[in-house]
Amino acid sequence: MKEYLATAVDVLDELGSREESGLSADEAAQRLAKDGPNKLDEEKKTPLWVRFFQQMADPMVIMLLVAAAISAITSAVQGEMDIAEVAIILFVVVINSVLGVVQEAKSEEALEALQQMSAAQSRVVRDGKTVHLPSSELVVGDVILLEAGDSVPADCRVLESASMKIEEAALTGESVPVEKHANAISLPAESDDVALGDRKNMCYMGSTVVYGRGRAVVAGTGMDTEMGKIAGALSEAKEELTPLQVKLAELSRILTIMVVIICAVVFVVDLVRHGSAMLAQPKLILDTFMVAVSLAVAAIPEGLVAVVTIVLSLGVTKMAKRQAIVRKLSAVETLGCTQIICSDKTGTLTQNKMTVVRHAAEDVEEHVRAMALCSDAKWDVEAGVAVGEPTEAALVADAAKEGQPKSDLDDEYRRIDEAPFDSGRKMMSVVCETPSDRIVQYTKGAPDEVLKRCTKIRQSDGVVELTDEMREEVLSQNKGMADDALRVLASAERAWDQVPSSNDAAFLEQDLTYLGLSGMIDPVRPEVGPAIKEAHEAGISTIMITGDHIDTAVAIAATLGIIDDRSEAITGAELDRMSDEEFDRNLERYGVYARVQPEHKTRIVEAWKARGQIVAMTGDGVNDAPSIKRADIGVGMGITGTDVTKNVADMVLADDNFATIIGAVEEGRRIYDNIRKFIQFLLSANLAEVFSVFIATVIGFTIFQPVQLLWINLITDLFPALALGMEDAEGDVMKRKPRNASDGVFAGGMGLDCVVQGLVITALVLASFFVGVYFDMGYIHIADMIAGNADEEGVTMAFITLSMVEIFHCFNMRSRRASLFTMKKQNKWLWAAALLALVLTVVVVEVDPLAQMFGFVPLPGEAMAWALVLAFLIIPLMEVYKAIMRRVEKDQS
Ligand code: ATP
Repeated sequence: MKEYLATAVDVLDELGSREESGLSADEAAQRLAKDGPNKLDEEKKTPLWVRFFQQMADPMVIMLLVAAAISAITSAVQGEMDIAEVAIILFVVVINSVLGVVQEAKSEEALEALQQMSAAQSRVVRDGKTVHLPSSELVVGDVILLEAGDSVPADCRVLESASMKIEEAALTGESVPVEKHANAISLPAESDDVALGDRKNMCYMGSTVVYGRGRAVVAGTGMDTEMGKIAGALSEAKEELTPLQVKLAELSRILTIMVVIICAVVFVVDLVRHGSAMLAQPKLILDTFMVAVSLAVAAIPEGLVAVVTIVLSLGVTKMAKRQAIVRKLSAVETLGCTQIICSDKTGTLTQNKMTVVRHAAEDVEEHVRAMALCSDAKWDVEAGVAVGEPTEAALVADAAKEGQPKSDLDDEYRRIDEAPFDSGRKMMSVVCETPSDRIVQYTKGAPDEVLKRCTKIRQSDGVVELTDEMREEVLSQNKGMADDALRVLASAERAWDQVPSSNDAAFLEQDLTYLGLSGMIDPVRPEVGPAIKEAHEAGISTIMITGDHIDTAVAIAATLGIIDDRSEAITGAELDRMSDEEFDRNLERYGVYARVQPEHKTRIVEAWKARGQIVAMTGDGVNDAPSIKRADIGVGMGITGTDVTKNVADMVLADDNFATIIGAVEEGRRIYDNIRKFIQFLLSANLAEVFSVFIATVIGFTIFQPVQLLWINLITDLFPALALGMEDAEGDVMKRKPRNASDGVFAGGMGLDCVVQGLVITALVLASFFVGVYFDMGYIHIADMIAGNADEEGVTMAFITLSMVEIFHCFNMRSRRASLFTMKKQNKWLWAAALLALVLTVVVVEVDPLAQMFGFVPLPGEAMAWALVLAFLIIPLMEVYKAIMRRVEKDQS
């Protein structure tokens, strides 16, 4: 059936549904079982084994495999098939791939869970009641409600449209919104179909409602929709790399290239040195090759990128538990740099639980009725509560209290037409037929706006002309309420002789008769005051942006500690009169922007960004999308937010709460700190390895085999690094200024830290090596070592010391500067990781045949004690280093 050619009644008949009551829950369940969920097919996931092998397409891995192959071939040529080396390299390569796959899976899992949490919801009529359901549960025949900001969840035939305009660019390429109606469309002459863009009584999945509201019946779901026909399959949500990941990948790449060059040079130099002797002796070539490979392995932080991704994904999951749903991994990093937070007032700083507490009207009954009639909220007689958007629910509840329940009013007054609320106009109007068959329009909205359009006023003795004094009087009543932090709305009416010829707002909203004011409280959220204070201490400024009246805004902002007085507040109209230069000069003065239009938000974001500040901006309405997009962190509202804003947001607040943003900032800072901690941990180890191998090669002996270094980089170091990523926030995370967004990972002297620590570890490792040689020989004789006579003890000791240093050093890295002994809480993950690393080290050193494969020999107890003592020295040495750096940094500041 072509639903657009038929009347709404016929379509409903055909689909077996009814406009008022929709489908029954049973019927819907049956249809869902038959037709499947309302979702586009997802692209097939790459199978696990393919992903596993994809991980191997990495220069480092290829190099290792080549090394393994060469090693195998040469040993085979020499007739002594030694598979240990090959086996270990293959093992490490497999571990590396597994890690890569786990890492990918973790971040995908986190993102998928988040997508589910922020999955689209629809308002559906089932069994005569309006319920919220995940859009995936919609079935053909469901009656749904649409309003500005909604994404259309399925293909539907419009049943009712209150100036509903829909933007369908995704389907038709036409970006100008189309106004929809409920009438049947007749076929144009000489054609047998109507173009998609001309089906003005249909709305299609993937388009958005930008104005008005409406009701529609679902005619196609899932792959049966127009979208499904085009899309074929929804491509998997691929996450782009975060700036940090990009920088680290870059670092790895540079290191790899450098290492390859160095290795080639070392190899060639050796070839030249040994000359033709070398060519005759494959073993020599192999040794030189292995040194080169050792250097390469030593220099490249194999696990780094994987650990960063895992820690970011874990962070995202943790943030979700704190009600902040991050939609892009990169937001985690940016959050930590946030300097300015621009927040809506209603619902974010306040509870959005409105209650009317004051009236100012001569005919209260008429005023209260006008307010209720001009609201879309309903009065639930049984429950005795108003249901709907909070402002309107407050007005409807107020009317019920005054003896005029909306349920009765709805029966008596028939709504003929309406001009829906929009935050630009700050008003809404309805046209009704009264019980006495008169046509009356009711308007409600921001008092200043409504009053501008009034020419008369209703007084106890009838309607009179509105004089300037009366206007002043109303405005001062308004101010009185606003100063007490009340949100104030005015009502007005207009009598018509006949049904107005247009429902255009500008046409309706003029020549009105003023009725009265209602003032409602909207208590501030108790946790917001402390959150703003915390933000302030963390060097983050909070700015309130609201559509509400300036006096209300100032009163609330002052209670919350955002501003001290009125001089720090400005209205949208005042802002309009300011040039960009003037605004920029005064930017820092303003903590409150009142009576703004959504466009002002973009201007405010731009102004702060022009100063190089990192700005977070909240938004909920249809028109907030541009400013949310422009902000560094666009924050959407989970409860009151429209689909449009949620879809462009970097982060969605599940509880709409300002305090959640501050929590997320803290998480962002903690995660970034932790990433720096383990980067330092891993890189100082890599540097120590490079220094050791380099020094050993220059002197002419072998200290580490590639497989030994691989073991440390990929097995011993990995778990402590991950555990460091789960460190709690240090005490001062929210006491310091935001970090500079342009700072690199190594900012603040971290590069120096890495080098110093690398050198200290090198010294310990070399010392251990020589002690080992001494224990074996009773003396240290370089020539013997070069001849390869006495290095096994040394190698074993150096390996034990390096592994143990890493196990101790991960505790040092819990804080870059604070003493380990001042850390109050313990990180249980770190203890577990250290224990695991210890077990792995013992196993590889002590358990044959593994130890033999790695080339380790049993050590006398005394030697072992030396290796451990040397390793332990890293703790006091680092304490001294941290103390010195604390002094230096204090002097500097
Ligand atoms: P915030 O921007 O902090 O969320 P807000 O809710 O006041 O504040 P808008 O929703 O843009 O912002 O509303 C702007 C103004 O429009 C309000 O101050 C109020 O005077 C008026 N208003 C709000 N809701 C309605 C409504 N349903 N009908 C008529 N007027 C309304």
